[in-house]
Amino acid sequence: MVRVKHAEFTLVNYWGVCYHYYVMKSATSMLLAKTNREIWCRGQAYANEGHVSIIRHDNQEVHALVKGTEDYHIILKFAPKGISQSCDCPYFQKNRYICKHVVAVAIIWDEKRGISCPNQALIEQKTVPPPAFSRRDINNLFKKPLIADLDQVRILAEETALGGYVRPHSRLPKMPKWTSPKKMDT
Ligand SMILES: [Zn+2]
Repeated sequence: MVRVKHAEFTLVNYWGVCYHYYVMKSATSMLLAKTNREIWCRGQAYANEGHVSIIRHDNQEVHALVKGTEDYHIILKFAPKGISQSCDCPYFQKNRYICKHVVAVAIIWDEKRGISCPNQALIEQKTVPPPAFSRRDINNLFKKPLIADLDQVRILAEETALGGYVRPHSRLPKMPKWTSPKKMDT
């Protein structure tokens, strides 16, 4: 369970003395919903196998090195709304998708600050699931567009919208308005 939610409180008492309370932010809980499920599991394995060396960290920012086939440099930083991340591996540089190195560093950074990492149930629930269709299925849709399965097209469009971008075509109707199944039979 992720037990710590990010929050900052400033309280002013009767005499005007200001108290500033800071509750630790959880990097892993902020990254979960933006990360591909398989990438998360690979990052977790990297963290468990001791690939992560933290160079420096505080409650706002971490710089780390992840050793694998190559060494990569990772920076995670809390922003007012959410978290920003960077890694110099080709996967991150090409797509800006969260890579296993970022996940591994987030897990170790949270651990170092005494924040528990998300459990398996939460990982299953929050991470981006694998695609419902293979590249081959998609190619087949394009080969015979007139007889393409509209349900497949709709699910693919919904998945595209999962990345946080809600596109206007992501909720396609089950049938075009001008078609009725009865007319098509005759
Ligand atoms: Zn990376």
